[in-house]
Amino acid sequence: MIMDLCRENLAGMRDLLKDGEVSAVDLCRAHLNRIAERKSLNAFITIDGERAIDAARTADKRKQAGEETGLLAGLPLAVKDNICIDGQPTTCASKILDKFIPPYTATAVFNLLNAGAVIVGKTNLDEFGMGSSDEHSHFGPVKNPHDLSRTPGGSSGGSAAAVADFQVTAALGSDTGGSVRQPASFCGIVGLKPTYGAVSRYGLTAFASSFDQIGVLTRSVTDCEMVFRVICGRDEHDATSVRSIYPDDYSGDLKSAGRMRIGIPTEYFGEGLAPEVGAIVEKTIEELARDGRAIRKISLPHTKYAVAAYYIIANAEASANLARFDGVRYGTRVDSGQLSALYRESRSQGFGVEVKRRILLGTYVLSAGYRDEYYDRAQRVRTKIIGDFEDVFSSVDLLVCPTTPTTAFKLGEKLDDPLAMYLSDIYTVPASLAGLPALSVPCGTANGLPVGLQIIGPRFAESRLFSLATEIERLAGHRRTGV
Ligand code: GLN
Repeated sequence: MIMDLCRENLAGMRDLLKDGEVSAVDLCRAHLNRIAERKSLNAFITIDGERAIDAARTADKRKQAGEETGLLAGLPLAVKDNICIDGQPTTCASKILDKFIPPYTATAVFNLLNAGAVIVGKTNLDEFGMGSSDEHSHFGPVKNPHDLSRTPGGSSGGSAAAVADFQVTAALGSDTGGSVRQPASFCGIVGLKPTYGAVSRYGLTAFASSFDQIGVLTRSVTDCEMVFRVICGRDEHDATSVRSIYPDDYSGDLKSAGRMRIGIPTEYFGEGLAPEVGAIVEKTIEELARDGRAIRKISLPHTKYAVAAYYIIANAEASANLARFDGVRYGTRVDSGQLSALYRESRSQGFGVEVKRRILLGTYVLSAGYRDEYYDRAQRVRTKIIGDFEDVFSSVDLLVCPTTPTTAFKLGEKLDDPLAMYLSDIYTVPASLAGLPALSVPCGTANGLPVGLQIIGPRFAESRLFSLATEIERLAGHRRTGV
């Protein structure tokens, strides 16, 4: 019974609750039990069972009283631990924020709570979102539920593992250069990075502010759309957020899915792509073509510069954003008498090795004499990459490509080789540089491990992404894996 409840999707759970077959408290308990049973995956940093049961009880009471309930009433969700919830620890998986308890709630979480969601806990991640494997966490690595010797991807690896492992039905993640899409792909679930500005960043700990977006991880496209609908929209606390232009009814887009023109970027199928991943993605594209869609090869010529540009700009922004963690205002403080020593020791002892590497690289590319050569040049590359996408979206509606060049790699495999780790983001960073919406949907397996297909669209074309992803979900249904 418990397992069956956890295997339902959000939409199915909503029906069960509506029919009164189960209560929100039943749902919450079933998930808390599953989380406890599967602790060895290390998907969560904090679990607040009491608070979750209280929220579930409130949802049940409101329903019994016949009150208006929200879209997510009584449904269990998790939140990546770099997104703030008032009164609950937010560690960003860093020692420097070990004891930090934020006095406010992120707008995206506020919207979830307003819609009646029950937040069961905060998920593990790479420290401050910096990484692609979840191994850079002060709280230890997360394991991939499909193969415990492999990484779930990162940095939203805890969210992805928890959703794929039925510990929770949906989770928020954050995506700066691929951190929702890559773990979704590695764990065989759906992951959306919305258009830059579609979801408020208020309460999301800043990594690289011109890229960061809160995203959604779920086991179905319908569920993803449901959560996105709740969290998107303008927020006065984030000047870069925009009024929701997401249509209430996207059935028009659904109908037009059959007529969509799909572009296949040739640069995403070259060297570095594992043949078994390429094969399953190409098979899915052939199936889309057989259904009568116009499929066209296109070129995004500046793709080869994307990883370098991303790691220069993102680290430059990170070096500025992380300056606030000085041992005075938040978390870990190593007091050694003098102010300069306090800064130095708190930061030296508080940050992990990857975060230090990023701060050093970011400071270097912004320093006098090097700024022109690195940072300014990378910004010009970013403009070129934006131009590449603008050019192709005049002739196609969406782009389809692999989400990652390989399936989930082994824990430890890339830990000592940062460059190899960075290259695993090769297909996800271009959409991040351009601020475009992108979604990873499972399209099959290679050697028993999940493979994700990435759909990239023009700004604010989320409904178009959902519509094609629904088709791919249907096509790939017979190849889907469970845990
Ligand atoms: N893996 C990328 C990085 O380490 C992206 C991280 C993210 O999207 N937060 O920068």
